[in-house]
Amino acid sequence: MNSSKFIYAFEDGDGRNKMLLGGKGANLCEMTQIGLNVPPGFVVTTEACLGYLEKNQLPAGLMNDIRSHVTALEKKTGKVLGGGSNPLLVSVRSGSAMSMPGMMDTILNLGLNATSLEALIRQTGDERFAYDAYRRFIQLFGKIALGVADEHFDERMAAVKRKAGARLDLDLDAGHLKELAGEFLELVKRQSGKAFPQDPYEQLEIAVGAVFRSWMGKRAVDYRRQFRITPDMANGTAVSVCTMVFGNLGADSGTGVGFTRNPGTGENLMYGEYLVNAQGEDVVAGIRTPKPIAELEAEMPEIYRQLVELRGRLESHYHEVQDFEFTIEKGTLYCLQTRNGKMNARAMVRTSIEMFGEGLISKERALLRVEPSMLEQLLVPQLSPDFHGKSLAQGLPASPGAASGRIVFDADTAESRGLAGERVILVREETKPEDIHGFFQAQGILTSRGGKTSHAAVVARGMGKPCVSGCEQIVINDKARNAVIGQTTLHEGDVITIDGGNGHVYAGEVPTVEAKFSGEMVTLLAWADEVAQLKVMANADTPEDATRARQFGAVGIGLVRTERMFNSTDRLPIVQEMILAESQEERQAALDRLLPIQRADFKGIFKAMKGLPVTVRLLDPPMHEFLPSAAQLELEIAHLHQLNDSIKALKELPDTLKLLNPKLYQQYADGLTRLVGGLHTFEESHLEDDVIRRKEAILKKVRALQEVNPMLGHRGVRLGISYPEIYSMQIRAILEAAALCAREGAEAYPEIMVPQVATVEELKRIHSYVQRIHKVVELTHGINVRFKFGTMIEVVRACVRAGRMAETAEFFSFGTNDLTQATFSFSREDAENKFLPAYTETGILQDNPFEVLDIKGVGQLMKMAVAKGRKTRPELKVGICGEHGGNPVSIHFCHHIGITYVSCSGPRVPVARLAAAQAKLLEREYLDPD
Ligand code: PEP
Ligand code: MG
Repeated sequence: MNSSKFIYAFEDGDGRNKMLLGGKGANLCEMTQIGLNVPPGFVVTTEACLGYLEKNQLPAGLMNDIRSHVTALEKKTGKVLGGGSNPLLVSVRSGSAMSMPGMMDTILNLGLNATSLEALIRQTGDERFAYDAYRRFIQLFGKIALGVADEHFDERMAAVKRKAGARLDLDLDAGHLKELAGEFLELVKRQSGKAFPQDPYEQLEIAVGAVFRSWMGKRAVDYRRQFRITPDMANGTAVSVCTMVFGNLGADSGTGVGFTRNPGTGENLMYGEYLVNAQGEDVVAGIRTPKPIAELEAEMPEIYRQLVELRGRLESHYHEVQDFEFTIEKGTLYCLQTRNGKMNARAMVRTSIEMFGEGLISKERALLRVEPSMLEQLLVPQLSPDFHGKSLAQGLPASPGAASGRIVFDADTAESRGLAGERVILVREETKPEDIHGFFQAQGILTSRGGKTSHAAVVARGMGKPCVSGCEQIVINDKARNAVIGQTTLHEGDVITIDGGNGHVYAGEVPTVEAKFSGEMVTLLAWADEVAQLKVMANADTPEDATRARQFGAVGIGLVRTERMFNSTDRLPIVQEMILAESQEERQAALDRLLPIQRADFKGIFKAMKGLPVTVRLLDPPMHEFLPSAAQLELEIAHLHQLNDSIKALKELPDTLKLLNPKLYQQYADGLTRLVGGLHTFEESHLEDDVIRRKEAILKKVRALQEVNPMLGHRGVRLGISYPEIYSMQIRAILEAAALCAREGAEAYPEIMVPQVATVEELKRIHSYVQRIHKVVELTHGINVRFKFGTMIEVVRACVRAGRMAETAEFFSFGTNDLTQATFSFSREDAENKFLPAYTETGILQDNPFEVLDIKGVGQLMKMAVAKGRKTRPELKVGICGEHGGNPVSIHFCHHIGITYVSCSGPRVPVARLAAAQAKLLEREYLDPD
């Protein structure tokens, strides 16, 4: 296409060029070109938008081109913009290459003015319809193009309804709507300081500019940031100008939205909603609650038949579930829009399996079309099956999953309370696109109006958040900050639970249980495993976690953090004894008590993993993490001293009282004697002195262990070198656990991993402990114990020395949490809540490097380490066990540099399995961002 051409008629635009025409515009072209009944129109390109945003004015000549395309439209439709006997009205819609539902602006009924309004009345003979269209246009144009706030219009509307005694918009007659349109015109003039433009080309010019501007509007920018939509994915919005067709021309007209399959369950059945005698925005904004599409079969059988046909054509053309909008104008069906349907994870997985079965898509496509991180949604909590409480109300099950939280009545409050760490449920009559920031922070959404395709429902589903919509029993008063359901009044801050799977709303917090894998999910992940090259392991510290990880499909444990075992309440005192020991003997005595406990832990994990590899990391954190803080100890010691003083004072109490008030003393003499006796016994036990002494000893040790920067201090292998007996105990526990398993006929395959290694010599030292202990264990148990010995690579120097490291290490595991910290010199404890948000918001960094692997920096170190390591030891096993191991973008990179496995938390194992398959399928297209 010629890049200076800013406009394409629907007949001419390239339906594949979404970057230029936007998803919506490209589809309108494509739908027109495959013969669907699309009202005529044209698309103004995203390049024109970028030109506008750069200079803050429409590109030169654009208005002339628009005029000639409008002339062509007038020829095609026989209508005239802004006048004539057959007036042309158009919609002006936004649409970028990436779907951003409701995030940008759209104006309908453009072209209405005093002249065309009269013509429309004459032509349709329907004054009510014409004024209804006019007042809608003034409101939308006023709001979007001229910046007049919605609530001014809503107030006028409410006042007219009150005066007319009307409950619904539909109850207003032509006279009311005429009055309303007049008031709206006045309102616009008052608020914007200018008369409402009557020239349709002026309207068009302002509208196109406003839609372009909406690309940089707050909600669009927030949305792109949240969903990581970068300029190379979508740059600017296109504008589609399309002949208006009307669903509100009477009982043979209507409007609706459809999905070619059910987006909540994936069921192969047309799904959607419609309203008779209404315009599209009524369905999407949830102003009226629509009817299920199945009812259309009885109401308009011929239209329903055409819709079924349309559904088939859309799917066989796009090979994807479609979300389409349609309008019926006086018995004629028009398709106004189609796009790939946004579905929840369950529906995506099911449709992948079924569309493959129907021959509509290949297995590769079935794997590629599911966004891996969505799979976490399938593990959304459900209400506990043991819960049989009565619900307060029931609305529509709009997005599955159960959530509890405190009620908030507006998006700003949801955002601020959510960011402060509270769990909140956003409760509103209906939501609008400007509420998006509230969605991000809410656990779930509850609305009293709107259907399953209302804004709230669609956005919540996309985000995988529970949503109950159209819960009409709830009367929300957001000014008084309460919601009334029958006899119950709920206030802001009260806790409720919603179940987006069945639409129920409960007072208080209801216990939830985790979700289970569906059969389709199992199938999809089995396909993924067939394709993937990367293996997926899990990070797990207990036999229970290990069992769960296996259920999620992990083929081993890539990281057991042994310190988590040390921290449980039965072990901590022994660990503290070990740390406080004054001599090696004392330390050994504590370690001897820890040994059987650790051995039992490892045995449990090995058994749960049934012979799959289990990578156990030797102790990593600095010792002080197992001791209370100095400040806490100082406080406790001060309290104990105060207690001593109080005891002394209490012992003097009887004598003092005898002197001051003998009568009172007599009254309490018995009790006082008992009290003093008790205090003596307590003092003689020296209990508090013992406690003080012990606490002082701990405090001394805590002070001795204090480090300026503990994360770079005495931790990891450095501890193992200073206290060989600690690592020796752990190594023995691992190998003995393996021996015991083998003796019991259970396979076990431990991999011993050393953290924080920076020099080859460190690794060799620990290796010598392992070799020595391995021999002893084999001799004592009379059994061969197989194991691997390896190192974490989480220090920059280790990457540089990887070639030599691989002489001793049989495997590497990248600890990318520490490696990221070390590469950036960012303290991971401080970065995420101090400066990183500003870095990502202002574009210094595209992503938080602790979430998404920094391929350009950390990634290059990894690449180098893999190459060096494999040069020494070609069969070197290499894994990653930092948080990035479960992040799809990072997984693609790991595949690219030939890593053997990724290891991540249990619930992310399915995500990683799918991402690993996609990485393989897309390997040829992979571009190293370096
Ligand atoms: C790492 O550094 O990536 C790692 C897995 O270890 P930890 O997060 O326990 O320091
Ligand atoms: Mg680490």
